[in-house]
Amino acid sequence: MEERQWRAIESCDSGSDGVFFYGVRTTGIFCRPSCKSRTPKRENVSVFATAEDAMAQGFRACKRCRPEEAVWRGAGGDAAAQVQALIEKRFGEGLSLDVLADELKMSPHHLHRMFKRETGQTPGEFLLDVRMREAKRLLRETEWSVTDVAGQVGFVNLSHFSTVFHSRTGQTPTQYRGGRP
Ligand SMILES: [Zn+2]
Repeated sequence: MEERQWRAIESCDSGSDGVFFYGVRTTGIFCRPSCKSRTPKRENVSVFATAEDAMAQGFRACKRCRPEEAVWRGAGGDAAAQVQALIEKRFGEGLSLDVLADELKMSPHHLHRMFKRETGQTPGEFLLDVRMREAKRLLRETEWSVTDVAGQVGFVNLSHFSTVFHSRTGQTPTQYRGGRP
């Protein structure tokens, strides 16, 4: 183990997540560097490049920091940010958890849990936020009909759009834009 790796473990450095993993020989558990579990004794620590390497050596994934999830594989890509970017780009399409999971090469279940842990929202809630934000902008700034706005932000059903819009803003889309239909 290198000195900087040990410092990353000691300081729970999230910048090292995905860069390496460490196992604790006395417990048989492996973690990502940012794990908040008690700092192990240095002489018991083994360092691995990937979660697969740690598992191949007989270590089990920590229940707390979930080092085995796809988000920490490879070069520490920030999967939650990738999901957000995908949603921002494609909210007008029929995006579903399955579509997102497929893009991220992750199971829908893992994606849902990872996203919620990282952002405090489910992917569906975030998608709806983006759709509503864009709908408000279009209602304010364009002359498009409410039907067109609904379609543009990914709703196939106008009454569903109106219901969701009303529940979030307390106004119908028409009221929101000041009476213009
Ligand atoms: Zn851990």
